[in-house]
Amino acid sequence: MNKIKVGILGATGMVGQSFVRLLRNHPWFEVAYVAASPRSAGQKYADAVAGRWHMEEEMPEAVRDLAVGDASDVARAKKECRFVFSAVEMDKKAIAALEIEYAANDIPVVSNNSSHRWTPDVPMLIPEVNPDHIEIIPAQRKRRGWNKGFIVVKPNCSLQSYLTPIHALRQAGYPVAKMVIATMQAVSGAGYPGVSSMDIVDNVVPFIGGEEEKSEREPLKILGRIQGGEFVNDDSIVISAHCNRVPVVDGHMACVSLAFSGRKPGLDEIQKIWTAFRGLPQELQLPSAPARPIIYRQEPDRPQPRKDRDADKAMAVSVGRLRECPVFDVRFVGLSHNTVRGAAGGGILSAELLKAKGYLD
Ligand code: NAP
Repeated sequence: MNKIKVGILGATGMVGQSFVRLLRNHPWFEVAYVAASPRSAGQKYADAVAGRWHMEEEMPEAVRDLAVGDASDVARAKKECRFVFSAVEMDKKAIAALEIEYAANDIPVVSNNSSHRWTPDVPMLIPEVNPDHIEIIPAQRKRRGWNKGFIVVKPNCSLQSYLTPIHALRQAGYPVAKMVIATMQAVSGAGYPGVSSMDIVDNVVPFIGGEEEKSEREPLKILGRIQGGEFVNDDSIVISAHCNRVPVVDGHMACVSLAFSGRKPGLDEIQKIWTAFRGLPQELQLPSAPARPIIYRQEPDRPQPRKDRDADKAMAVSVGRLRECPVFDVRFVGLSHNTVRGAAGGGILSAELLKAKGYLD
């Protein structure tokens, strides 16, 4: 099979590098084009990121000599690739406009940015949770007069640790009415260099700008439905979030207490639901899909970021410490890798789903 040529916008940044790393030897996609700001444009990729390659593995040979393009040069991208992953960091309105320009020029955009998360006809995907949301793409194209282009986005990096388990319970007939979550989020979530070491070593910072609002609102769209070519939120669930930055490099953890809206499953049943849960990515055997999206840890002191963040290609959500809650119904701890599952890996899985469903033909 001929691989699909992919471009990465913001390829020199933290998330962009993560895309470059994860796409090495990808069975369906080949990194054919990298783009960044005018500061990097014109240089070879290896030169543009010299001294700021943050991945633990060496840079893939195949990208070292690629000439970095200017992300605003849509005409060039059109010649070089079939679709793009977007991971640029600039003004949100400028990102939104740039992504629209790509889509209008027949280049599908799978975005890691937040700019279009609340655009009413743009799906915010967790492929195991709301894969059907890609069915809005024909309406999105029609409304905007686009032919082959479209925009899909992925949600905030902390959601995966608790939303997949909540979705599995809802799907099994146990809708959740309310939940309180307290996250412990890794420093890599803020990009490089992120929080100053003087602020985070020997410390916890109980504030991450905008994060609590995202944690409380984004699930409502993800669990929502398509109506009249737009997404309608599921307002049946209320979420209260406390988000904290902790001195962990990778891996966002969430302590969750929840109340069901109707009948309550027993603890054994919840464990069985989570362990048996499989989504469309597993059914379609997408290359980046974890075999088990939710891994239940029986040990009393798991999951832990260092031990569990890399579970199944760092794409699985690890949960544990399921027990009764004296205030709500039950409580548990969830963990997922924020820069893989929560960023580039999640974006790649979305693109695989789009490919499997014929949207990248
Ligand atoms: P980053 O390390 O600062 O990288 C930013 C990238 O954007 C670089 O490639 C940079 O190119 C490029 N860029 C900056 N200004 C530009 C311009 N005017 N035109 C074109 N390209 C420009 O940021 P990051 O941490 O990778 O984050 C990228 C995006 O992903 C952000 O929107 C962030 O919110 C989102 N995100 C991050 C994470 C995470 O875990 N870090 C998770 C989910 C989502 P130069 O190298 O040429 O400056």
